[in-house]
Amino acid sequence: MDIQLEKISEKEAKTKPDQNSLGFGRHFTDHMLVMPYTEGKGWHDLTIQPYRNFSLDPAAMVLHYGQAIFEGMKAYRGKDGGIYLFRPADNIERMNISAARLCMPQLPVDEVLVALKELLRLDEDWIPTAKGATLYIRPTMIATEAALGVRPAKQYLFFVILSPVGAYYPEGFNPVKIYVTDKYVRAVPGGVGHIKTAGNYAASIMAAVEAQQAGFTQVLWLDAVERRYIEEVGTMNIFFVIGDEIVTPPLGGSILPGITRDSVIQVAKGWGLNVVERRITIDEVLAAQENGSLKEIFGTGTAAVISPVGSLHYKGQDCLINNGETGALSQRLFDEIQAIQYGAKEDPYGWVIRV
Ligand SMILES: *Cc1c(COP(=O)(O)O)cnc(C)c1O
Repeated sequence: MDIQLEKISEKEAKTKPDQNSLGFGRHFTDHMLVMPYTEGKGWHDLTIQPYRNFSLDPAAMVLHYGQAIFEGMKAYRGKDGGIYLFRPADNIERMNISAARLCMPQLPVDEVLVALKELLRLDEDWIPTAKGATLYIRPTMIATEAALGVRPAKQYLFFVILSPVGAYYPEGFNPVKIYVTDKYVRAVPGGVGHIKTAGNYAASIMAAVEAQQAGFTQVLWLDAVERRYIEEVGTMNIFFVIGDEIVTPPLGGSILPGITRDSVIQVAKGWGLNVVERRITIDEVLAAQENGSLKEIFGTGTAAVISPVGSLHYKGQDCLINNGETGALSQRLFDEIQAIQYGAKEDPYGWVIRV
């Protein structure tokens, strides 16, 4: 598929934001990638064009029935000036799993990656150079057919937008306070918890707002059936260091198969550590804290890489983890994975691609 290119004119170029106050997801670059899909014709008109508003019919099916999926990945500016991507094919392949679950069309992975690299080269001046800052990449697919009625749409739009984002930890790690909810659930077995579809995030907002109003940063989700087994924390996967085990809930149910989760498992196993994917209850975690065997808890995700957990609040009780401080393993994993992502350290896994 040829890539059509429509560049901004010089006077359309946006003023770039101050690199030291980027925040997250507030600024967008000059160009975006778009590719429509029409039943019978397939994907067509792969185009890089100026970042601009879409025109959507009010009956566009995504607005009514929520066929919407997305991904989150990053481009990193290496010390050597190179642009690096971390496991990008895994993101597009995961998007295809999301698409299949919602009866949306499959993306051509290789062509999408070629176009993404071209988009990054075109907007490369937007990739921040400040330490820890990155260019966040948001591939998205929505149903655009104008029709009412619950069924798979016949028209879709795939697009990729880019957003320069600041360092997640500008002043070093800051362990988060977590609220364990037994009132709300994120996902049910047989549902869509294992895919990145918009509705999952809409459904999670109320729990997050209530937790924040009570002074916590994120919500820890328990399973929907027994409300005992730990699933995820906010929009991150979760790990527990108990005794000589590193425990994380298994895939295959309602949790998101994080690429950072998988990277942490591989790196820790590569160091000879004992990583176990198994179900773990909130009671087991609290008992481990009581008997002193719980050493660390951390979340994993593209945005933060590693997010140390400083405390858990469950059924009215506060439980301090590792004295509220960042654990040694959290720090070591963060340093290792970030160094690989920025092309600063040898990558024995074949994860990093130079654009
Ligand atoms: C995206 C996401 C994650 C983390 O996935 P990564 O590929 O590591 O970024 C974990 N849980 C949820 C619910 C997510 O949406």
